[in-house]
Amino acid sequence: MDVRFWGTRGSLAKPGSTTLRYGGNTSCVEVRASDGTLIVLDCGTGAHGLGHALMAAGRPACSGHLMISHTHWDHIQGFPFFAPLFIPGNAWEIYAPGALGRQLEQTLAGQMEYSYFPVTLAQLGATIRFHDLAEGSFTAGPVRIVTQYLNHPALTLGYRLESGGVVVVYSADHEPHAPDPAARDDAPMHAEDRRHVDFLANADLVIHDAQYTLAEYPQKIGWGHTPAEWAVDYAIAAGAKRLALFHHDPFRDDDAVDRLVQVCRRRAGAAGSALEIFGAAENEQLHLLESDADDRKIDAPLRPSMKAGPLTILVADDDPTIVRLLTLALEPDGFRVVTANDGQTALDRARAERPALILLDWQMPGADGIEVTRALRRERDPALREVPVVLITAQSGADNTATGFTAGVTDYLTKPFRVAHVRARVQAWLLRSRAGGARA
Ligand SMILES: [Zn+2]
Ligand SMILES: [Zn+2]
Repeated sequence: MDVRFWGTRGSLAKPGSTTLRYGGNTSCVEVRASDGTLIVLDCGTGAHGLGHALMAAGRPACSGHLMISHTHWDHIQGFPFFAPLFIPGNAWEIYAPGALGRQLEQTLAGQMEYSYFPVTLAQLGATIRFHDLAEGSFTAGPVRIVTQYLNHPALTLGYRLESGGVVVVYSADHEPHAPDPAARDDAPMHAEDRRHVDFLANADLVIHDAQYTLAEYPQKIGWGHTPAEWAVDYAIAAGAKRLALFHHDPFRDDDAVDRLVQVCRRRAGAAGSALEIFGAAENEQLHLLESDADDRKIDAPLRPSMKAGPLTILVADDDPTIVRLLTLALEPDGFRVVTANDGQTALDRARAERPALILLDWQMPGADGIEVTRALRRERDPALREVPVVLITAQSGADNTATGFTAGVTDYLTKPFRVAHVRARVQAWLLRSRAGGARA
């Protein structure tokens, strides 16, 4: 597999004399499989350069697969400027996480409405097929692609590409689930962080969000990004060979990226790891040698199932402000919200309504969140035994976290939370539990 970086910046394009070496364009990575299959990861402003390089190479007839992590601007602003999309005869498969309600095609068409752009989506010359994805796997040419939700204030997927024994994982825009994801004797890793490490397992190259430094992170909690030092911890825990620090903060000039790379290398060295670390730089190319092992294995459905009417979410909290905040956050996405303000009522309402998702306060009168979860997991009705249960908590103590997971809690929502984050996580919890539809 050949990998080339066309845009490595996060949040905002940052051209100028201080970003010349690592580049100012936003997320876009080209991956070329051994048979020539073209995969483009994200379509930030870097896609403009990639499109022109493809045309200049005398290949106006170029088709490929565009995989979008999420539709924040820095990941799609190059889309209307990606030249191959304008050429009749080209065919592009475009993939992105499909939310329950709003589809990829509408979102991309939105940024090409007349107020924003002179050409509409419908006027693009190439044949374009849209694929709304959930978690699962599919193939593009010889490449097996596995998707997994990342933790970000928009529904976001990471992409794991496997071909001929080579693994490349693209994990842009992800925040650790626990405030300190490293596993220690006194603090086991959060189950969701463990899942993230498994997603990166044994990769030859991990391209990972490294927007912040550890020193900056306390001011940026909840913004949806990883401190570079923890990207190192993830990559080491996953047994990865190389780590590309990616999604550089617009404030981080070239010299600051150099310093961050040095900090990360020292951290890996201190851990006795041979992990190779570099700052992803625009135009940088890597060749990853494939063996001919055919490791393709398709094991899970991909298309989110959207057929059901409005889904019901039960919110149980004795704090009316939290109940109101969550209701206001969820109703605009078309969910029906039912509420309770103590544990016993929560259990009764769960039995009566059989909701698709339950958000439970940890501390409630009657029965607390853990007791309600244990009771649900003992029910005869599989809809209650298996419903995703998310505990709302102000605590982040590792002991408590472990207690919750043992009781059958699916995940945690830690206060204070941001509405955008809740909306994205709710989509991920629901889509993950509902995977089971047809393959894309
Ligand atoms: Zn981003
Ligand atoms: Zn983002």
